[in-house]
Amino acid sequence: MTIALHGLGISRGIAIGPAHIIERDQLEIPEYEIDLERVTDETQRLQDAVLAAQDQLRAIRRHIPAGTAAEIAALIDAHMLMLDDASLIHEPLRLIREERRNAEWALKAQRDALVRTFEEMDDAYLRTRRDDVVHVVNRIQRILLNHSPLRHEQPDSRLAGYIIFADDLTPADTVLMQHHGIAAFVTEYGGPTSHTSILARSLGIPAIVGLHQAHTYLRDEDVIIVDGAQGVVLADPDAASLEFYQARREQDQRYYSGLIRLKDATARTRDGVRIQLQANVELTRDFDHVLQVGADGIGLYRTEFLFMNRAEPPDEEEQYRTYLRAIQMLGRMPVTIRTLDLGADKEVDGGGRQGSLAANPALGLRAVRLCLKEPALFRPQLRAILRASAAGDVRLMIPMLSNLHEVDQVLGMVDDIKRDLNGAGIEFNPDLPIGGMIEVPAAAVCADLFAKRLDFLSIGTNDLIQYTMAIDRVNDEVNYLYDPLHPAVLRLVHGTIAAGLAADIPVAMCGEMAGDIRYVRLLLALGLRCFSVHPASLLEVKQIIMECEMGPLQELARRALAAQSGAAVAAILDEFRLPAEATS
Ligand code: PEP
Ligand code: MG
Repeated sequence: MTIALHGLGISRGIAIGPAHIIERDQLEIPEYEIDLERVTDETQRLQDAVLAAQDQLRAIRRHIPAGTAAEIAALIDAHMLMLDDASLIHEPLRLIREERRNAEWALKAQRDALVRTFEEMDDAYLRTRRDDVVHVVNRIQRILLNHSPLRHEQPDSRLAGYIIFADDLTPADTVLMQHHGIAAFVTEYGGPTSHTSILARSLGIPAIVGLHQAHTYLRDEDVIIVDGAQGVVLADPDAASLEFYQARREQDQRYYSGLIRLKDATARTRDGVRIQLQANVELTRDFDHVLQVGADGIGLYRTEFLFMNRAEPPDEEEQYRTYLRAIQMLGRMPVTIRTLDLGADKEVDGGGRQGSLAANPALGLRAVRLCLKEPALFRPQLRAILRASAAGDVRLMIPMLSNLHEVDQVLGMVDDIKRDLNGAGIEFNPDLPIGGMIEVPAAAVCADLFAKRLDFLSIGTNDLIQYTMAIDRVNDEVNYLYDPLHPAVLRLVHGTIAAGLAADIPVAMCGEMAGDIRYVRLLLALGLRCFSVHPASLLEVKQIIMECEMGPLQELARRALAAQSGAAVAAILDEFRLPAEATS
């Protein structure tokens, strides 16, 4: 009988294949007392297991595909460092020697103690470290228990075509899986903005998170269908479902490969209105993708990914060289570098700070607030961006603005750095455009004030919706309230676009709403003329733009802004639906 399970689709695409279930955190750990004469052997067994775990990680590192983000290798290095640290097995060795415990049990005791410590601190940054401890300890346990290494980590393609089910996956797992030709993955935990979700989209692997019942219903080798767009898993599908999804998969493939014909077309509506269609990038590898889809430059470069999975933040020189490479790849096209947006769900080691103990980190010290508080973190980035600005059309963008004094402080620091650079004879663009993200309702309501101080605005709907609706964007329990069509959101978006127009400065949108083809007409109707979207969505958005005519959209805008609910706006949008949106 076909079973349908629902999660949160975070990376679209249809996959059909056998299941491989990774029971990562469910090892059976035996507990027994060892004889006195076996103590030396048992301590040696534990030390050998650590060495074998190091060998496994070295092998994984060697098999990372060329072109993979440096962050992934850094993550594996972090696990290797943990294995190198003698304190990890210091206490287990004591338990073996003094309490004559078996190695597995002694190691589990250590793991539990460390996990408890991290969990008591209840902080996003430290939670990440907790997961690393669990992953590293489980690797040693598998060796002790004579488990073979996880199949997806072996350097062969036995799992090609498999659909992976796991409690949770690290970014390193995700990259290796793609290397071995994994068809899709599904996890019980994780939100749409976790590292793993972001990587899945960037690697083009269909994926679903938040599918809680998977382990209850599925077994290894069951045939599974994954619909990454809808967040649906079908287990034991009947012949009709298989036929339907096979046809859908072929149709999707034809559709996406057909879109490439639009690569060199200008994004212009039927009645000639030119729309800027830029790309969002996270990883270095995304820059190739930007060129492949013919974007009009980069509208959002999320620089915080450079700081992830490493012990120290990149220094000014490393940042400068990274930005320079991107700018040189893009030629004369604009590159909008967003300054660090660390904090909330994006706590990272490379921020070079201890995790905060905030109860509501999304409302806490993140993005520009954190940068202004920690100039030692911020100044090198501002210097690197300014230096890189000599090489091309660089724009600097400030995230999470809520007060004008934040703009003034950043502008003050930029002026200061310009003086330093001038004094040192270092080149930069003295007219570097500086813009701000409108993603806090306070800033959207006062967009006219920000528009007077800044060279451009960019609407970050991911956060703007989170804060307007008071829902944590990574919490799948309140995801149902995440509604880009809510009248409050539309009014804030419309007001921001109008403020930009009145001040004669460009307004872009770089949140996920801009890349969702269901909303393109509405955004055009509201006056948006610059979209910044993930490269994978860019050609689809272009197709919609090229089918639109601005005339009838005036009526759409009028009616949508007068509507009383998101559902009413959705119904109005349906009336104005275009043929190209049939695939959405
Ligand atoms: C946003 O909030 O819409 C945005 C683009 O920024 P991020 O998703 O990185 O917070
Ligand atoms: Mg944001």
